[in-house]
This record gives sequence, C-alpha cells and structure tokens, in this order.
Amino acid sequence: MTVPEDALRKYRKAGKIAAEVRKETETFVREGMSIIDLCEKVESVIAKKGGKPAFPCNVSVNEIAAHYTSPPQDRRLIPENSIVKVDIGVHIDGYIADTAVTICFNPEYEPLVHTAEEALAKAIEILRPGLSISRFGSMIEKTIKNRGFKPVSNLTGHKIGRYLVHAGKALPNVSHFSFSKIDVGEIYATEPFVTVGNAAGKVQSESDTYIFRFTKQKFLQDQYAKRLLLYVQKNFHSLPFTERWLRGAVPQNHYKMAFAELLSSKSIMSYPVFVEASEKPVAQAEHTVLIVEDGCLVLT
Ligand code: MN
Ligand code: MN
Repeated sequence: MTVPEDALRKYRKAGKIAAEVRKETETFVREGMSIIDLCEKVESVIAKKGGKPAFPCNVSVNEIAAHYTSPPQDRRLIPENSIVKVDIGVHIDGYIADTAVTICFNPEYEPLVHTAEEALAKAIEILRPGLSISRFGSMIEKTIKNRGFKPVSNLTGHKIGRYLVHAGKALPNVSHFSFSKIDVGEIYATEPFVTVGNAAGKVQSESDTYIFRFTKQKFLQDQYAKRLLLYVQKNFHSLPFTERWLRGAVPQNHYKMAFAELLSSKSIMSYPVFVEASEKPVAQAEHTVLIVEDGCLVLT
C-alpha cells in the first residue's frame, strides 16, 4: 500500500509544522509559566503556520504521563524542578502529525529524558516493513532497561489514520505477544515513555478529564446540546478537543447543561489523565513516521 500523493503532501506539511512548533516550544517553556498560556501559545502557533491542532496541546508534568491540557481558567503553573512533556498534534485536512518533547528543569531527571530520546532513535532505526510488533516492543524495552530505567508498559505508539489519532495498531514499548507486522505505507506515531527503575512502570487513569472526542450521534433533549454537538462535529470531526475550544459555541448560561448532556448521552467520550502508578517522574519522546520500502521517514 502506498500513500496517495495529495495525502502525503498534507502529512508532510503537518509534520513540518509540528516539528517547527515543537522546536519553538522548547525555547519558551519556563518554570512558573502558566500552563494555560503554554497550551494556548502552542495551539495559536500551529494556526499561524497554517495547520490546525489535531488535539489539545498536552502538558503533562512529573508523574502525569499524558492527557493533561488546561481547562478554561486553569491556574496551574509549571512547577520548579519539574519534568514537562509537551505533546503537539497538527492536522492538515485530517492528515495528522503527532510529536512530543520533554523539557527538564531538574538535572536529576536528565538521564530519563536522554533515554526516552535514545529509545525513540532506536524505534526510527528499526521501523521497516515486515518488522513484527513483538520484536519492536522487545527492542525498545531493552534499550530503556539497558540504561537502568523502565518503560511505561501500558502506553504505546499508534498507527495514524485520517481524522484518527489512534487507528488500530499499537506500537508497544515493552515485549508484547503479537502476530502483527509493520506494513509499507503505514503512518505511525512512535512514543517511548520512560520512568525510573523502581517505579511501577505503568499508568493509571485519574478521574479528571480535560480532553474529549465525538463518538456517536445520539438523541439529545436540549437544543443547546444539539447545537454544541454540531459545533464539535463541524470543527473537530472525530479528533480530540477541549472545553477551552468551545467558548462562544452556545450562550454562556446554557453551556454547562448542554456539555453535561453530551457526556451523559455518550455523544462524546472523555480521555482520563494518565498518572504513573507509583507517582514517579515520566519522560516521553515522539515522532510521526511514514513506513517506506527500506525503513521509515520521520515526518516531524
Ligand atoms: Mn503525542
Ligand atoms: Mn501519540
């Protein structure tokens, strides 16, 4: 299978924008910075460069591994001596690039960050058509354990599809039994998550949720709920979104009830925040790649 020319051009453009935004982000994240300012800056730079966010900017601090983005009026700040994962998604017409970087304000955690980067480099080195998913996972696990660290076993990379961040196949970061293989023409986000050697090495879901996604057209009672769901479908399709992006979609005094009905009717689903089960710090590195005949091409 090959990617059609027009789709590939859009994947490349999304990848180029995501890479530029990631590099810019590294230069402006500071301790004490407000997290909502960081999220909104990343999202606005994506738009300025001609892309759209494929999901809300994720800012996951210390033991939070993934899926935190600022709710409206968030007052949280980037803590001192922290390790901060910024996960950036860009799409052009539904063609997605997904990339992440860990910014480290604590010298103690530097080796964790380097190990995540090293595991990502290993992934890029080995990804090619015919590689088994099992072998991929065990090689990433080995790379991380060789440094005395632990992969987060229940967070994986993923195949990407049009308007789909998670399109079925997963790329594990640990040895994992599977008959599945990598195929030419597939697009993957590969993302090792690394924690310390004495950590649980897995994440658990928190009850807090800040990221949502359209799931299914359901019967809705409230006219404002209907209007809000139309807004979601029109603007985000099946891609993740956050409440910050719903400002002005319906009158303020009707918003709370309308949003609650979208959740209770299961018209939308929520992504829980993932926290390392033993509350140990986590580092992440991520690129989106295209599988080509003789290996993979990094798009981000
Ligand atoms: Mn990501
Ligand atoms: Mn990803």
